[in-house]
Amino acid sequence: MALEHEELHVRRGERTGLYVVVAVHSTALGPALGGARLWRYETPGDAVSDALRLSAAMTLKAAAAGLDLGGGKCVVCDDGELDAVRRRDLLLDLGDAVESLEGRYITAEDVGTSPEDMVVVAERTAHVTGLPIDRGGCGDPSPLTARGVEAAIRASLAWREGDADPAGRRVVVIGVGHVGVDLAARLSRAGAEVLATDVDPAKREAAEAAGARWVEPGSAAELDCDVLAPCALGGAVDTRNAGRLRAGIVCGSANNVLADDSLADDLDQRGILNAPDFIANAGGLIGIAAERHDSTPAQVSAAVDEIEGVLGGIYERAAAAGTTPLAAAREIAAERLRPPARVAA
Ligand code: NAD
Repeated sequence: MALEHEELHVRRGERTGLYVVVAVHSTALGPALGGARLWRYETPGDAVSDALRLSAAMTLKAAAAGLDLGGGKCVVCDDGELDAVRRRDLLLDLGDAVESLEGRYITAEDVGTSPEDMVVVAERTAHVTGLPIDRGGCGDPSPLTARGVEAAIRASLAWREGDADPAGRRVVVIGVGHVGVDLAARLSRAGAEVLATDVDPAKREAAEAAGARWVEPGSAAELDCDVLAPCALGGAVDTRNAGRLRAGIVCGSANNVLADDSLADDLDQRGILNAPDFIANAGGLIGIAAERHDSTPAQVSAAVDEIEGVLGGIYERAAAAGTTPLAAAREIAAERLRPPARVAA
């Protein structure tokens, strides 16, 4: 990817010796906010690549959602030997890394971290959000993310099928973690037929409790369905499986659903509607941003539900311009990020 970031920090934690990577993509609209991902990377280079790509997506997400925030991301390298004490030390190392950026980056939970972890991070820095509700935070943002993905699915069904109602539609949810399980439950309650899978077989019980039918991972992305909802890690649609998808719509919570942006054109040519992920999964960020403005829960829910209208507008804009929804969504974000033209004196 093009290196267009404002800052990249790679720092070895003084307590654990593990790498903490912070990428600040843009602070043009405000401090760069993005979660801290705790993950086992093959190499530190993979961690850096992930931080660079995810932080760029956060800039687009905040800009397109109309938030006064920039885009950043932190990734923390798990070496597979984290007991409770060392994990706590790693969170303190993370807090120190965040503090060193003096507020240009604000962290929160992401894959592998939780609101409770952010309480530990807060021992070292004030530039942390997504704290538990009893600490004045918004708690786990995943339910809001799932709510937003459902809104995006409704917009996508309305555009492609002429009816937003998920009832009777078949949805395949890939990744039944925090967001996926909640999305499966929401869609089941709405009357959809939900198929769900995860590489972790222990998630099966929760998936079935949410009303989903379990399918084996492997080629789940290629199942015949109305909506494919990738809710695991990035790259669920890649050059190997894009030509074999049998979904009408791709709309999930995962960041960077497409392994490569050029796949948006491939899907478009095959008549598959691709909901730009940074629009569909903005619900959690909208909730976390609201933590900074003391919004009421009702205001936050209403803001997340607006994703349905925003995405509908993006589909209209893409159709009018003869471009992909991804390109249209990027344009909307770019328009907000562009500095206003100077008026000659
Ligand atoms: P999570 O870690 O709770 O869940 C991810 C699940 O995906 C896990 O159960 C994992 O076992 C599974 N998984 C990993 N690789 C898989 C594969 N190849 N096939 C099937 N399953 C696989 O994470 P989450 O918080 O639910 O987030 C899910 C995705 O949504 C991530 O990409 C995250 O960046 C994105 N996202 C989350 C939020 C949020 O509020 N949590 C907000 C925006 C975007």
